[in-house]
Amino acid sequence: MPPPGQDPRWETMGLVHDYLAAEFPLINKTLSLAKVNTYGLIYEWTGTNSSLKPYILAAHQDVVPVNPETVSTWTHPPYSGFFDGESIWGRGASDDKASLTAIMLTLETLIQKDWTPERTIVLAFGFDEEASGIYGAKYLGKALEETYGRDAFAFIVDEGGGFKDVYETIFATPGVAEKGHADIKLEVTSPGGHSSVPPVHTTIGYLASLITEFEKNPYPVELARDTVPYDNLVCMAAHSRDIPRSLKRAIFRSGHSNAALHRFEKDFVLQDKFYSSLVGTTQAVDIISGGVKSNALPESAFAIINHRINTLSFVNETAARDTQTITSLAESLGLTLKAFGEDVIPESFYATSHCSSQSSSTSSSKGHIELSLAFNHELEPAPRTPTSGKESKPWDFLSGTIKATYYSHRAQGIKTETTATDGDNVDFDPRNVDGNTDTKYYWNLTRHIFRYNHKNAAYGSEIATGVHTVNENIPLDHYLEIIRFFTTLNNECR
Ligand SMILES: [Zn+2]
Repeated sequence: MPPPGQDPRWETMGLVHDYLAAEFPLINKTLSLAKVNTYGLIYEWTGTNSSLKPYILAAHQDVVPVNPETVSTWTHPPYSGFFDGESIWGRGASDDKASLTAIMLTLETLIQKDWTPERTIVLAFGFDEEASGIYGAKYLGKALEETYGRDAFAFIVDEGGGFKDVYETIFATPGVAEKGHADIKLEVTSPGGHSSVPPVHTTIGYLASLITEFEKNPYPVELARDTVPYDNLVCMAAHSRDIPRSLKRAIFRSGHSNAALHRFEKDFVLQDKFYSSLVGTTQAVDIISGGVKSNALPESAFAIINHRINTLSFVNETAARDTQTITSLAESLGLTLKAFGEDVIPESFYATSHCSSQSSSTSSSKGHIELSLAFNHELEPAPRTPTSGKESKPWDFLSGTIKATYYSHRAQGIKTETTATDGDNVDFDPRNVDGNTDTKYYWNLTRHIFRYNHKNAAYGSEIATGVHTVNENIPLDHYLEIIRFFTTLNNECR
């Protein structure tokens, strides 16, 4: 989609701005507002103590579209914002207007009550998070770095994991790491011609062999301590009530013995598809294309391999491994190979290696393989937010805020689905999040990025809340608890 100003579809964002201006008059009077790339919003509420690093509360203004074919299946019209006495219904009710309006409502109320912040509060609202943030957060990230500087913020809270009541223990799951990703294009070209005189392999045949080679060589899954998936296991072993004893023991042993760690990797991690995907770099051939007519040899064929890169690796390491995976097969098939701009098997390879004594024959390759990064949207794994040790103060603050919010909300006697009401039973289970939020453009701003909505998952799965599908809704009580979270956070952050 072309940028704002060149495509009228962006103009609906103007309506969001009109709404915010009309509904939050005190914010508009008290905070400064900068618009970045037309629709990105940066509000600043300047604190009284300029020696304290400011913090960012982030959210996105956009939503995913409603599939027109599903409109009739919504209980209440998707853009109605209907409140039925219990829940608020509509696209964005959960993702991510709940956060955005909860932040705004919190600040509006604090101003009304003559509260002033000690630490500067910055709001950063992108407008195309659901389309990778290339016009919104990408520009906001740059603008924030220019205005405030590198590493200028104490922390950032953006959308992400929520909390859940599991057998009277509350697990809060803020995202503190993200895998990277890269789509790699694997293309084979060779001379075309009429299919009545075919070669042994067409480009499609070569491509099929290469894909098979990839699938025969999955990425190794290596469990490492000091990674989020490992910490999740330790957390599970420490807190889960129904974990088998043998598993629990194996996890604890792996903490101080490398042999036990590898045994655990083999016996448990590799056996669990979900878990091994979380730990390792994954590969999946997701797109294939080639050929135009049944009587014409396809001059080219390509596939796209999607990778989710493990948090200890890099994009270029992934590219290098993919190259290595197919190099010897390419050679045995008689194909030249160019990978990421570098000639790995040049044409001269065949010319020289086939130069026999009898002739000066011009032996040549049978075709060409090209590996390249597709779509221009590869992303390195995110730097991990510290959750222990000397640098964990922001994390400690966030977890304290979550706990305080949880208990004070229930102390009001408000009816909730959760059963835990007292005692020290909120556990923190920092997560690797799948899918990147707007914060992928904010890495330079702080090391302390929390992808967390204080959203109650007791309600059920994503399906029940309709995130990205029909019947998106949020119970009013859950929404109020989000407001309580932001209120607590602002109040306590000094
Ligand atoms: Zn979202």
